[in-house]
Amino acid sequence: GPVIVPRSQHSISRKHINEHSLKVLYRLRNHGFKAYLVGGGVRDLLLNRRPKDFDVATDATPSQVKKLFRNCFLVGRRFRLAHIRFAENYVVEVATFRRQPRPEELPDDPAEHFFFTENVFGTPREDAFRRDFSINGLFYNIDDFSVIDHVGGLQDLEARRLRVIGDPLVRFTEDPVRMLRALEFAARLGFSLDEGIREAIYLRGPLIAEAAPARIREEVMELFRHAVAGPVFREAQAMGLLSHLLAGYEVTEETLALLEGVDRRTGKGAAVEESLVLATLFLARFRHALPTDDEATIGNALQLANLLLTPMCAYFRIAHGTRARARDLLIGFFRLSRGRGRRGEARFLRHTSSVQALEFFALWCETTQQQLDLLADWRLAFAGTEAPSAKSSKPSRR
Ligand code: ATP
Ligand code: MG
Repeated sequence: GPVIVPRSQHSISRKHINEHSLKVLYRLRNHGFKAYLVGGGVRDLLLNRRPKDFDVATDATPSQVKKLFRNCFLVGRRFRLAHIRFAENYVVEVATFRRQPRPEELPDDPAEHFFFTENVFGTPREDAFRRDFSINGLFYNIDDFSVIDHVGGLQDLEARRLRVIGDPLVRFTEDPVRMLRALEFAARLGFSLDEGIREAIYLRGPLIAEAAPARIREEVMELFRHAVAGPVFREAQAMGLLSHLLAGYEVTEETLALLEGVDRRTGKGAAVEESLVLATLFLARFRHALPTDDEATIGNALQLANLLLTPMCAYFRIAHGTRARARDLLIGFFRLSRGRGRRGEARFLRHTSSVQALEFFALWCETTQQQLDLLADWRLAFAGTEAPSAKSSKPSRR
């Protein structure tokens, strides 16, 4: 049976659980259902970190959940997940306990396996075992405030170790995106990778090329949101995972340094947009492929930016607007790196996208410690345009 840790022997307090999620847990319990807090919420509370979300698992079926909550919407493939909506767009996700399907139950198309697996109901124990890592498989039981550990997650939290539930080779074959998640959680939490994970990634890395691009895109953006893109790209490259992950893309040392720079900014609270991610991934190649200094024109730069960005944007079905913003960052970088005093500078300074380009240029200057004087000069020029009277043909409002 599971290890059950009573309230007096763990650190999870209801004070730290979102009130809406608590309400959902209590209401399920009061109607006779099992109601657990699961996944990242439990993990982060036990680590004294602030959870991003508080997901709930229950033995109530989605339609039973729907009957209990007026504000409940069934979502996902075949409506197997309940979303309970509260004010300010707060959503509590309620999932019915699920299990790994038996091989003979699986659909013929392997691409459907992941989604199918999401949809087979099971016991709480089965639900714990279908999860990816032991530290993500812990339950907090609202009925007696205990923590339930079916998978040895508490020991691994203690040892600060990321361990796959079951055999990594098997679990990575089932769902290759778990390889990326392994590197992500290890970096986010500062945990070590358990024995066998590296070798399994090395052996199963190529499989990630067949994962749904939309899922890869989502997990890659998670890396940036949690400011671990630099270390995870570095590890993924070293393990041969990266090129399979990003349709043949490889990183250079210069790009890794830029990614670490992006992480530093995110760590200080800056939001990361996908356009910045794209521009960062291709900046080194953009710079090296452009003819030096005065030979290149804006037209060349545009053409090159499009050439670099288009294949990845097509692969991940990234919207044209996002690609255009990434291209503008690269073009802005090109304009800024050529120095002051060019034709069209006044117009460039007034353009709203130029401010973002300046920050992108700053990222490069500060990371590579190059052109810092030019950066300072540009900063002054930009500050000048923000004064009410400067270079504006419109009459002052004062
Ligand atoms: P965070 O939300 O802080 O990034 P999390 O652990 O909540 O971390 P999610 O991606 O929100 O991660 O997933 C919620 C839970 O669902 C995980 O904790 C894990 O138990 C399970 N899970 C998510 N993805 C997988 C997967 N690919 N394979 C198996 N279990 C998964
Ligand atoms: Mg989560």
